[in-house]
Amino acid sequence: MGQLHFFFFPLMAHGHMIPILDMAKLVASRGVKVTIITTPLNESVFSKAIQRNKQVANEIDIRLIKFQAVENGLPEGCERLELVPSDDLLNNFLMATTLMQEPLEQLIQECRPSCLVSDMFLPWTTDTAAKFNIPRLVFHGTSYFALCVTDSIRRYKPFKNASSDSDAFVVPNLPHQIKLTRTQMSPFDRIEEEKKMSPVIKEVRESGLKGYGVIFNSFYELETDYAEYYTNVLSIKTWAIGPLSLCNRDIEDKAERGKKSSIDKHECMKWLDLKKPSSIVYICFGSVAIFTASQMQELAMGIEASGQEFIWVVRTDNEELLPDGFEERTKEKGLIIRGWAPQVLILEHEAVGAFVTHCGWNSTLEGISAGVPMVTWPVFGEQFFNEKLVTEVLRTGVGVGSVQWKRIASEGVKKEAIAKAIKKVMVGEEAKGFRSRAKAYKETARQAVEEGGSSYSGLTTLLQDISTCSSTSH
Ligand code: UDP
Repeated sequence: MGQLHFFFFPLMAHGHMIPILDMAKLVASRGVKVTIITTPLNESVFSKAIQRNKQVANEIDIRLIKFQAVENGLPEGCERLELVPSDDLLNNFLMATTLMQEPLEQLIQECRPSCLVSDMFLPWTTDTAAKFNIPRLVFHGTSYFALCVTDSIRRYKPFKNASSDSDAFVVPNLPHQIKLTRTQMSPFDRIEEEKKMSPVIKEVRESGLKGYGVIFNSFYELETDYAEYYTNVLSIKTWAIGPLSLCNRDIEDKAERGKKSSIDKHECMKWLDLKKPSSIVYICFGSVAIFTASQMQELAMGIEASGQEFIWVVRTDNEELLPDGFEERTKEKGLIIRGWAPQVLILEHEAVGAFVTHCGWNSTLEGISAGVPMVTWPVFGEQFFNEKLVTEVLRTGVGVGSVQWKRIASEGVKKEAIAKAIKKVMVGEEAKGFRSRAKAYKETARQAVEEGGSSYSGLTTLLQDISTCSSTSH
């Protein structure tokens, strides 16, 4: 049997490309040849990091496929989802990816990879893989927990029994009693009849279940009950191989993930070095979520009212909404980073004591891996489900009371609730409990990726499974 060759095809969005890049490095570190498929404007997300990783760089290739944005009603140069997507934008973007099928097939024909690991948002790749008789592995980029909740909701539609949008209902048949309201669900999940769903979304849902199996950026010990549920109740083959961010051991790799940081990493570390252990609240909402002026105002006032020192990452398209005078008034207490922060580096600094997060899965897992308690402020996607994992199952975080699934964080969260949640995880007896639980998960996460750990073995099993598939298909 020759060398294994993995094709990786992530959705073009930072929250999907970053973990796939880590996964590619990890797989290549086991002597497997790797090819990453992306579009010209996204090449730099991968290329610099690959060049830096000399020990695996020779094993990783990037192949580019042209992306037809304008032809599909997208703005010129729109090769990545980083604007908050409207339904139309998301539909057009996903339609444009389908035009990548033919060039992808040519690449597969040329390289004859052993398998195709592709994003759940690229459902058409199931057919492509089948054409070449290679396994398609799906990457959802989220937790087992979120996928179990999603499955239960789709299967039993418990939201139909709620008397109003704000009336809580229990998500049936899960290992814990998880309650949600309709307001916390995406419009897609609230659709009662499949036939009313957009064809693209329907296809995304169905193809997730059709592949050879699912790779998770998670670790078994973190969500054991849900890994078991997903694998056994839904009968889907899975491999947990995370936290993927822990494969970055080098300071450059931790600092430059996805984009170049807007702040010099040394300057940022110097600022943190002067602070006491666990004294800084790090606030960042990922690569897509944005806030309205009123929610920015509440957040600013909430931070001030908490009395804590902080780092606040503000997207450049949100910075004009920073309340007047806030930065000047708080300059002794806080650092505002406009644009992109070296998140993993910051989270791992001992001065950081809490993470205010939108519960995107990468951020959530990075917070868990760094042993930092969280203040949860979900906005959209499956973030409300990840929040439940953190606040109710792991009990390493507290919510700010965000209950409205919206593409832009636009209403409802008040400064008092923000200050209260921050104080709860930062000061007092209760904070000690959050901290010690969070630290324990950090330890387990590290052990999982070490040789012999559950995620290390998960990857070994994955490679063996793909080896078996390729030897039987040849
Ligand atoms: N990220 C970063 N710096 C930033 C904002 C985000 O490095 O200023 C990284 C973060 O570490 C994570 C990813 O971008 O790996 C965001 O993914 P997540 O799933 O948390 O949220 P999304 O952006 O998909 O909503």
